[in-house]
Amino acid sequence: MAKREIVIYPHEVLKKPTQKVENIDDNIIKIVNDMWDTMYEDNGVGLACNQIGESLSIVIIDTSIKEGVQPVKLTLINPEIIASEGKQTYKEACLSVPGVAAEVERAYWVKVKALTPKGQEEIFEFEGFPAVVVQHELDHLQGKVFLDRLKGLKRRLTLDKYKKVLKKLERIKNQS
Ligand SMILES: [Zn+2]
Repeated sequence: MAKREIVIYPHEVLKKPTQKVENIDDNIIKIVNDMWDTMYEDNGVGLACNQIGESLSIVIIDTSIKEGVQPVKLTLINPEIIASEGKQTYKEACLSVPGVAAEVERAYWVKVKALTPKGQEEIFEFEGFPAVVVQHELDHLQGKVFLDRLKGLKRRLTLDKYKKVLKKLERIKNQS
């Protein structure tokens, strides 16, 4: 197991849809383990596979580090939202989009079909905060980040702020 580097937006791998996993072999299990190591190291509650640079349809979720929310810990392979209901707004952030956060409107409840790491197809239901995390991570698999969900002035201000964050990161990188 190993911590991988988080890919930073607007890297290409974050902007294109990921590939479905055909066969859950040792290599896939290794990638999943690397995802867990990486997410815990960076204190995330969810991670999509393309965030470590692998364009595969896998997400992991662990909401247990956050207090007062339903603890959900799962690895979802080839996940698909098959039903959704209601609305909620949550201030989202992303390990691949450092330094900015913005309120995003999403469904309150979602039903998801996915394979478990053992290759079994299962149906999962999420509501409230875990549903936010699931929808955020599944967006990644489609080549979308939460910035793509913003509109109008909020989108412009958040993108402007993010450009400044990127410049700052670039300066730090050039110094080291
Ligand atoms: Zn994210």
